[in-house]
Amino acid sequence: MQNIIDKGRIERIEKLKREKNAIILAHNYERAEVRAVADAVGGSSGLTEAASEAGADMIIVCGVDFMTEMAAVLNPDKKVLSPVRNAVCPLARQLSREELNEAKKENPGAEVLLYMNSLANTIALADCVCTAANAFQVAEMMGGDSPLLFGPDHCVSYYIRKGTGKEIITVPERGFCPVHYKISLADLMKAKEMHPGAKVVAHPECRPEVQDHTDYLGSTGGIVRFCKESEGQEFLVAADVGLSSMLRNEAPDKTFYPVSEATICARMKMPTLAKVEEAIVTEKFRVTVPREIADAARIPIERMLGLS
Ligand code: SF4
Repeated sequence: MQNIIDKGRIERIEKLKREKNAIILAHNYERAEVRAVADAVGGSSGLTEAASEAGADMIIVCGVDFMTEMAAVLNPDKKVLSPVRNAVCPLARQLSREELNEAKKENPGAEVLLYMNSLANTIALADCVCTAANAFQVAEMMGGDSPLLFGPDHCVSYYIRKGTGKEIITVPERGFCPVHYKISLADLMKAKEMHPGAKVVAHPECRPEVQDHTDYLGSTGGIVRFCKESEGQEFLVAADVGLSSMLRNEAPDKTFYPVSEATICARMKMPTLAKVEEAIVTEKFRVTVPREIADAARIPIERMLGLS
């Protein structure tokens, strides 16, 4: 019965998309049913590229607030909608415009690189942004020998520093993603004991000590590619459990174990098929960014798109 209802809803959503010239962008961590109706599925990097190329009149973003803002910044004349009202990313809230301004004053020689998981009013003060997928490439092309001011995630900062050798000043000092930060080294060691032959893949939002015990470290897209191409048959996944379920679909002949079943980004799971349908019908929860902020935030985002 559930499948029949969902099939009907999926058909209605597809029809609405054609009628309203709408597209749906969904993050890899969204529910499988939501990813199934999306026109583009990816991590922050893939979604930014898809938003920059969107030819539709309406864009429904199934993700968290900084992603809908990014789509609105890149598409100021289109309707950008969120299926839910409060899909807030706690990491993006950890660096305020005021704190970044202060750090810029204290480090006048530094170029500002922000993780894409930032709000538009903060990105508006940056020289460039990056995602987990292109962080090394962007960091290496910026700043010459001058230090980089990077925020808000200190674990991603560690990842970039270790991968590029760049001098990085992190702002705030201890910003973190509460979902990935939950995975401890003890969790990973326990999982390794249970599955000694499994390769370890992790997202760079994980703690530095977890990053140091991996076979592959990178973006969600990079993790999917690594697992598909690897000769390994079993993988321990240090990331949102949604990625393990996605990997099972992408590589059904292999086995994936989440390092911790508690690693769930609840905000990413808020959009359901029913809420997606409601969003297209009612057009509520429209996301807009004040023009002055959007114009300033578009520059670092487009710089990243140009570099990568
Ligand atoms: S996984 Fe972490 S960084 Fe990503 S949206 Fe959830 S809280 Fe934010």
